[in-house]
Amino acid sequence: MILDGHNDLVLHLWRGTEPRHVLLGEAAASGFAGGFFALYVPSVISFEEPDAPYRLPLPPEIPYAEASPIAEELAAVLEGLDGVTIARSVDDFVPGRVTAIMHIEGAEPIAPDLANLEAWYERGLRSLGLVWSRPNAFAEGVPFAFPSSPDTGPGLTDAGRALVRACNRLGILVDLSHLNEAGFWDVARLSRAPLVATHSNAHALSPSSRNLTDAQLDAVAATNGVVGVNFSVGFLREDGGGSPETPLAEIVRHVDYLVARMGADHVALGSDFDGATIPDELGSIGGLPRLVTAIRAAGHDDATVDKLTHGNWLRVLADTWQPLA
Ligand code: ZN
Repeated sequence: MILDGHNDLVLHLWRGTEPRHVLLGEAAASGFAGGFFALYVPSVISFEEPDAPYRLPLPPEIPYAEASPIAEELAAVLEGLDGVTIARSVDDFVPGRVTAIMHIEGAEPIAPDLANLEAWYERGLRSLGLVWSRPNAFAEGVPFAFPSSPDTGPGLTDAGRALVRACNRLGILVDLSHLNEAGFWDVARLSRAPLVATHSNAHALSPSSRNLTDAQLDAVAATNGVVGVNFSVGFLREDGGGSPETPLAEIVRHVDYLVARMGADHVALGSDFDGATIPDELGSIGGLPRLVTAIRAAGHDDATVDKLTHGNWLRVLADTWQPLA
């Protein structure tokens, strides 16, 4: 059974564009049992994988009033997915079917006074990224930059701190991917839950602003949290390049590094399927068994593979999806 930390299938279906990676007809044969399905209110930017070095400026803020109705539409798309169950508890994940964690990527659809957060929880929201790569009322994301430190701007606002506390109280996972380093450390100080970056890689191997420094990786491990390895070639490669001819082995390189640095209990998969350029050698969810074979061939035993593919996600979700004082 494979659970995954991030996909953008919903955005494609909402826009009416063809998904290329999350092909649900391939799910059963590949062992894909779902994971985090992003509700992402898009910024109006043209976004092609640039050649490193690069620095795309932060897009402007999207006001709550603009983001909220779009997020409602995105949620309706997710709820309408044929054969997909919306996760409300860890027991909902079973082999042979696809279960979706409703994840808001960028908290713009949450009112700055948090008035609608509980309604979102009731609707099924179980994971929230404070930011995408732009500023909002709660925090500021990293720009897409290579090479770059993730230390690119200010930390959480008062509203951002209130949001983290409210998520702990309700049992909503707080996702650190896309957050800048100052915000990361603010959450690390504040949150009572395990720290989680759903789709980020090792900065030591690929010095992108979107990846995590060794100190950040250590902090995630220290809270019994998890990092989902991102398959986006620009966050995998040492040179930050965007070629889809990047080999599958680049994903394994990050898995190896993170397991050595953090321990096998703190590493998972966070594909970014349908949100990024991924290695052609992987192709789609149908290629996941090839990735698992490559991870085994790199010397990871069955117990480790079970943790990487689903065990760590299930543990962290169980630890997080309960009210935390
Ligand atoms: Zn993302």
